[in-house]
Amino acid sequence: MRPLQMVDTKTQYHHIKKEVDEAVIAVMESSQFIGGKLVNDFAQAIAAYHGCKHAIPCANGTDALQIAMMALGLAPGDEVITPSFTYIATVEVAALLNIKPIFVEVDPKTFCINPAVIENAITPKTKAIIPVHLYGHAADMEPIMAIAKKHKLFVIEDNAQAIGNDYIFSDGSSQKTGTIGHIGCTSFYPSKNLGAYGDGGAMFTNDDALAEKMRMIASHGQSKRYYHDVVGCNSRLDAMQAAILNIKLKKLDNYIDARRKAADYYDHAFAGQQKIKTPFRAPNNNHVFHQYTLTLDGIDRDALSAFLTNEGVPNMIYYPVPAHRQKMFDAFGGSNYNLPITDWLTERVISLPIHTELDEEQQAFIVSKVLEFVNK
Ligand SMILES: *Cc1c(COP(=O)(O)O)cnc(C)c1O
Repeated sequence: MRPLQMVDTKTQYHHIKKEVDEAVIAVMESSQFIGGKLVNDFAQAIAAYHGCKHAIPCANGTDALQIAMMALGLAPGDEVITPSFTYIATVEVAALLNIKPIFVEVDPKTFCINPAVIENAITPKTKAIIPVHLYGHAADMEPIMAIAKKHKLFVIEDNAQAIGNDYIFSDGSSQKTGTIGHIGCTSFYPSKNLGAYGDGGAMFTNDDALAEKMRMIASHGQSKRYYHDVVGCNSRLDAMQAAILNIKLKKLDNYIDARRKAADYYDHAFAGQQKIKTPFRAPNNNHVFHQYTLTLDGIDRDALSAFLTNEGVPNMIYYPVPAHRQKMFDAFGGSNYNLPITDWLTERVISLPIHTELDEEQQAFIVSKVLEFVNK
């Protein structure tokens, strides 16, 4: 059996090695390392994949979120509503800009922001809602957009984990996550569903003015060379990453299929287990399984984790501490929050290996070890 890993980027690389190696060497031969045709080609291709007017590449997903907030004119003292059950990047950039994150609960089934609790958190200072499509499951965007419209708020989607998910509206139409809000942000961190071989990220929008603004901010606020109109930053996707991503984007739908197949295998193998809840799939989304996360009930999660590690089965807790309990947010009143569902989940979730290269022998082994502990 091939060694188990949470994400097997190496085996995946070996399947596309020839194409990737040639593309990377071609970048070195061209000496066009920053910007240029490969980056522009990728921006166009990924915008087209999303059915979205503009994709603006940048250096990483965290920058994408920061640039989005800057482009929307969010200012110190403003508030954004966001789940506490998320990766820290979502809320860290708000704090960095002196914007106050207002943490709300998630739906314990989807792990994503619960639209029903958003309106209660709105104050005169609220400027935006930041849903996170956690683990690859789409947040329920239709009610979120309705609330945003009613209260004139912006919506920034954190789509770092759900690239390729088709969200289905009640009229039957569908749209990719990351293109439904005013701005969508994603990451090409190597372990993400569309992973580069280094850092990368992008912003998405259908709004021409916002696209222009984000392009400017990502490039030192410059409108033309050496004319700097607004305070910006330096956030670029480099040509080598673009060359690799151009190749991998063509395979993204196959990669998503492979993840879904692995998820189906686990779902089937764990069906009927009383103490293990397999991931929910809301009918209005197409889960892309960035993570395969179990919710345990009546099992000592940390003991299971230690057992699996000891048996050679990688596993991870995403995330052991919710954002509102991070020391970072003491200054933002983090400890004043009462978010029992978020706390409950952080104590009970555990993620198993999921990626494009899992085979049945590996999955059978993983399942057997989980069940050995659960039924002990
Ligand atoms: C990975 C991730 C980010 C940040 O992306 P980077 O490219 O690592 O900066 C933001 N939000 C979520 C939910 C993520 O999973």
